[in-house]
Amino acid sequence: MTPRCALRCGTLFDGTGAEPVPNALVIVEGGRIAAAGAADRTPVPSGAAVIDLGHRFVMPGLIDAHSHISIVPGKGDQMGQLRRPPVPQALQAAANLRRDLAAGTTTMRVMAEEHFLDVDVREAIEAGVVEGPRLLCATRGITASNGHGRALSSFDGVDAIRRGVRENFARGADHVKLFATGGVSSTATTLNASGYSRDEIRAAVEEAERAGKYAAAHAHGGPGLRLAVEEGVSTIEHGALATDDEVALMIDRKAWLVCTFSILFHPDGIEKGDASRPAIMEKVRWARGVVEASFPRILGSGVRFAVGTDSMHGLMAYELETLVKLGVSPTRALLAGTRWGAEACRVEREIGTIEPGKRADLIAVDGNPLTDIGAMRRVSYVMKDGVAYDRLAGRTEP
Ligand SMILES: [Zn+2]
Repeated sequence: MTPRCALRCGTLFDGTGAEPVPNALVIVEGGRIAAAGAADRTPVPSGAAVIDLGHRFVMPGLIDAHSHISIVPGKGDQMGQLRRPPVPQALQAAANLRRDLAAGTTTMRVMAEEHFLDVDVREAIEAGVVEGPRLLCATRGITASNGHGRALSSFDGVDAIRRGVRENFARGADHVKLFATGGVSSTATTLNASGYSRDEIRAAVEEAERAGKYAAAHAHGGPGLRLAVEEGVSTIEHGALATDDEVALMIDRKAWLVCTFSILFHPDGIEKGDASRPAIMEKVRWARGVVEASFPRILGSGVRFAVGTDSMHGLMAYELETLVKLGVSPTRALLAGTRWGAEACRVEREIGTIEPGKRADLIAVDGNPLTDIGAMRRVSYVMKDGVAYDRLAGRTEP
């Protein structure tokens, strides 16, 4: 007998694009959505436990489309954190992921870890050993020896890249993460320096596609971003320096932009962790100015976008608030954090909306984020695969 329950919702935002439904019901059976809609048209099956979320806003679980499980940016030296041995990394990951889940993230795409840590943690979550979002894993990042994102592993030349990608897949990776340009949190790279040649990027994309998967590229702008999009990378991560021409190319090739605002703007982000490193802080200040000036235009350009916290655990609300600050409507911000994230991560058949047949991943928020996006900070109920996580540490709910 599969457990059944009925969630009574003050308002239901199902993520399909339909108008929000006041006074709704969601029926969950065997970890999946069985029905969802207006209460007077959605019968409660006999024997179903009724969960009263009647004063709350219910929506699909959040999808953090770019994060790392083991990093805490406020501690500084992110590459150094990745280089630590697997046990401290795993313990930190367990603490981080609990925060993410409590704040409403039910799926997280992991964008590089050493030691194949993300695969082991994914399995521990699935086995119920630790609590956390469902993980989609990159395993080792594919980066050049002098590239951004280099912790322990690096891959130079077409053959090494092919071998690296194949080994990642053999060990359980879901997608490829490659580093096409420099980044903010490293000292030896500039944001628009191109890390890889066209042949190297093509090799990574080809290996991913032959395995039925896809490649994502860390790229801020310039030739590395352009090469990645031209060679078929399907998601561009960060894109802080993307120009109108580069965004037009992304639209043309149907590449997704995965925005990561909190690590750059939040006071607990790079600013806190790397305050004593002038080379990094200079890049932070510069990138902030560029993003503030260009993103209202980029986000209104028609490019498809999703969001990720990039290790700012528990801060998906900040990502969505920033979208709204940059001119995105609250409805579209919620879609970026749910359905569009699922589409960018290619898991939209399973998650991202509250529809019959999908996994029962949903959250309840106190307040209405469509009129006050700040309400996303008040996630007070989290269900993943039909299991409620309402007694997470730090939660005062009875
Ligand atoms: Zn990242």
